[in-house]
Amino acid sequence: MRRTHPVHAVRRSGGSGDLRQGNLAQILRFVRDHGPSSRHDIAHGCGLGISTMTDLVGELRSRGLVRELEPVRRPGAGRPTKPIALDGDTWCVLGVQLDMLEASFICTTVGGRELWREQVPLQLLHSGPERGFALFHTALCGQLRRIPEDKSLVTVHIGLPGYVGEDGGTVSWCPTLDWDGLPLKTAVYDTLYSAGWEDVTVGIDHDGHLAALQAVRAELPAPMPHVAVYVGGLREINGGVVLGGEIFRGYGGGAGDLGHVRVHPDGPACACGRRGCLESLLGPEQLLARSELVSASEATRLTTFEPFRALQMLVEAARTDHPGVLAALEQGGAALGVALDGIIGTINPQVVVLGGYLGLLRRSLQDALQEGIDARIAIGPFAATQVVSLDSVGVNRVVLGAAVAARDAVLQDPLNLTQVL
Ligand SMILES: [Zn+2]
Repeated sequence: MRRTHPVHAVRRSGGSGDLRQGNLAQILRFVRDHGPSSRHDIAHGCGLGISTMTDLVGELRSRGLVRELEPVRRPGAGRPTKPIALDGDTWCVLGVQLDMLEASFICTTVGGRELWREQVPLQLLHSGPERGFALFHTALCGQLRRIPEDKSLVTVHIGLPGYVGEDGGTVSWCPTLDWDGLPLKTAVYDTLYSAGWEDVTVGIDHDGHLAALQAVRAELPAPMPHVAVYVGGLREINGGVVLGGEIFRGYGGGAGDLGHVRVHPDGPACACGRRGCLESLLGPEQLLARSELVSASEATRLTTFEPFRALQMLVEAARTDHPGVLAALEQGGAALGVALDGIIGTINPQVVVLGGYLGLLRRSLQDALQEGIDARIAIGPFAATQVVSLDSVGVNRVVLGAAVAARDAVLQDPLNLTQVL
């Protein structure tokens, strides 16, 4: 289980190799974010000399990461230029979401073209490290067999309802799956190795962080905000902070744990052992139970096993002005206002994104939420903060975010693609 992967055990040291690596990654990020661009625009945008572009672009072309498009002729301009576009069609990545009752997979090329997506029922709830990983191993092997002959898998990125430790590979806290202590990254390397995939990197993130990444990078109108906070979730409240288009994980991987911001020290008991967390007042299970739409035990059962039905009940009851639901949402909206007041003051984001079930319930939360942040956004530095909501249903942001993170990992480390085409 603990075999060290031969390629990834070696880290490049500092020096000119790192400088070159940084320049190549910068070019890839530029064409990813700006679309096909001239060499001149790339050099200007990345702060690189035009004279180095032939060499750097040549290196990326030799790895199939960029390609030249047909020359563009502009009236009155000099020589026609060949725009450089992101390619990456030879390489593919796998994004994975592990949830209580299923695993979701999406396979895309490094350029972002979707090859397939699939949901596999998987009883991971309280499965424990050994039995749970054995189930995931089988499901992952099934996906690896689907990779076409003409594609090379380069990265697998996994989102799970828990945290990984400072090493980025060992599950540090995952109560719903009971996977604490599982060396997940090493175990996945072993699965890949046994399936014949040796040069593949593996990343793991909290599912809320990946939902945040997907929301900020792919769902907000351009230009992408540089500082953004996401609050969402399906069965519980989770969140993330996205800085410059990248997940901010904090020191131990736990940044963005907005569900357990304490908004009332004497509030209701929370599943985490504290009192008065945001989730204890606004979690979907708590909303269902407190509004007396269903009993407390039925609220637990519904949010665990039929979360979309639970959400539909809340949305429908809010739409038809169910007094218990409206009161619970008003109290929850006020709690969210308290939490966001603190978060806006701490992070000073351009945008706070409400996604997941909070995006769908925004209208009923709005008045109490706004009251909670009014005093904060009246102060200069916070006046421009926008609170936006995403109300699309059926978008699995976690697995899409896992694919975004997987593609980023390749673009960040292009020299790791040892097979020059
Ligand atoms: Zn809590």
